Amino acid sequence: MSELQQTLTQLRGALGEAAVLTGEAISPQHHSDWTNNAPARPAALLLPRNTEQVASALRICHAARQSLVPQGGLTGLAAGAEPRAYDIALSLERLEGIEEIDSAAATITVRAGTRLEKIQQAAAEAGFLFPLDLGARGSCHIGGNIATNAGGNSVIRYGMTRDQVLGLEVVLGDGRVLNLMNKMIKNNTGYDLKQCFIGSEGTLGVITRAVLKLAPARSSMATALCALPDYASAVSLLRCLQRELGTPEAYELMWPDYYQLGVSWLENPHAPLNDNYPLYVLLDTCATREALESFLDRAMEGEQVLDAVLASSESQARHLWKIREASGEFPTRMRPLSFDVSLPIGRIGEFVDDICQRLEAQWPGQRSYYFGHIGDSNLHLTLDCNSLPQPAPLLAVEELVYSAVGDMGGSISAEHGIGLLKRDFLHHSVDPQTLAVMRQLKQSFDPYNLLNPGKVLP
Ligand SMILES: Cc1cc2nc3c(=O)[nH]c(=O)nc-3n(C[C@H](O)[C@H](O)[C@H](O)COP(=O)(O)OP(=O)(O)OC[C@H]3O[C@@H](n4cnc5c(N)ncnc54)[C@H](O)[C@@H]3O)c2cc1C
Repeated sequence: MSELQQTLTQLRGALGEAAVLTGEAISPQHHSDWTNNAPARPAALLLPRNTEQVASALRICHAARQSLVPQGGLTGLAAGAEPRAYDIALSLERLEGIEEIDSAAATITVRAGTRLEKIQQAAAEAGFLFPLDLGARGSCHIGGNIATNAGGNSVIRYGMTRDQVLGLEVVLGDGRVLNLMNKMIKNNTGYDLKQCFIGSEGTLGVITRAVLKLAPARSSMATALCALPDYASAVSLLRCLQRELGTPEAYELMWPDYYQLGVSWLENPHAPLNDNYPLYVLLDTCATREALESFLDRAMEGEQVLDAVLASSESQARHLWKIREASGEFPTRMRPLSFDVSLPIGRIGEFVDDICQRLEAQWPGQRSYYFGHIGDSNLHLTLDCNSLPQPAPLLAVEELVYSAVGDMGGSISAEHGIGLLKRDFLHHSVDPQTLAVMRQLKQSFDPYNLLNPGKVLP
């Protein structure tokens, strides 16, 4: 019997036959994540139902020196959950469900495989808000959100996933279970180890449960789409908005090519605003509609805003958001090469102008689209590889963009993580000393490099 077969026999003994799949029984969905980068059927797929089974699986794999790739909802955009043919994939999908809502503490305790949308709904039913929100809400798992420290639409107001996590349960590569579950805001007892696992993309441990903070439910919500004269106005409008109406719930910028594309992909492609303005911002605020209207009137008088449409109903607000969420359709409508970068907020306009010029000079006729959660300094840039000479010079484009980001002191990954796709560009944002300490951390949690090997660290 081969070493792998022996390991699988032990895994079947610990988890049960139905929780250890091999060959054709593994659905192609588990061969990659949303990127479909280099799909591979893993040697096996494990489907544990509880923390004890995760711990047993990790203990067995550790003893056999078998590599393991944690998988959540597989909506990741960095190929972080993509296995190689000789890895075992460990899906958290059966470790699912909400354990408790504590109204006094304003917390929700969940298992790692719970879909984000389910947590949002449970929070709403209990009169709270779970503010983490992203386009993949219907498929992504909270474990994946925590492992990637996901951002999304409301970071400007509530912070990243890290800011929503009060406690974690984590299984280490050798099967030890760390109980870091905690409901308290204040807890300065030694090193806050949970922070190591948030954003570690499955390379340091497997997250099995979490305690999350809940926010008060929103009492009102107003949505507006505004046309702006230039990038400087986008930043000054945000600061005025914060001063006068409080920090918005979302502040999403779209450059004209992206806006035009988003409108053209609507079921009813009617542009809410003319499509020839220099810039558009979609904003959500908890202020009343009247307060937002009067704020926008003043901004238009001061020519900070050129035109605006205020959603008159929830369905109109959703319609406006559909334009912004066009990026979810990129994989089916084009051959996207996507970037998710952070830059000092005051310099994003200059960065876009510069990178546009450089891309056009190098590859005339290229089509690139710019949008993002600008209130959080986060710019998304997507290039349609069909508009590049073939075979598309992907590496050259990536080098051009990431070195420009590095030169501006930016980050090559704002919210999607490093995974496999950005691993070899990490040096543009992380200096050699920091990288060496990251390697030491990995070594101390996972000395045999069995947890998601090859991801994050070059
Ligand atoms: C349409 C669309 C919109 C998106 N919008 C956003 C956005 O606005 N902001 C944003 O940040 N991201 C966004 N994403 C990316 C993606 O949804 C997030 O990265 C999400 O957090 C991934 O969760 P997942 O459960 O799908 O994780 P997976 O894709 O399954 O895994 C992601 C990484 O986490 C690891 N992992 C998963 N579960 C665990 C666990 N329990 N323990 C340890 N490691 C684990 C995996 O090994 C992998 O490295 C979007 C994706 C799509 C498709």
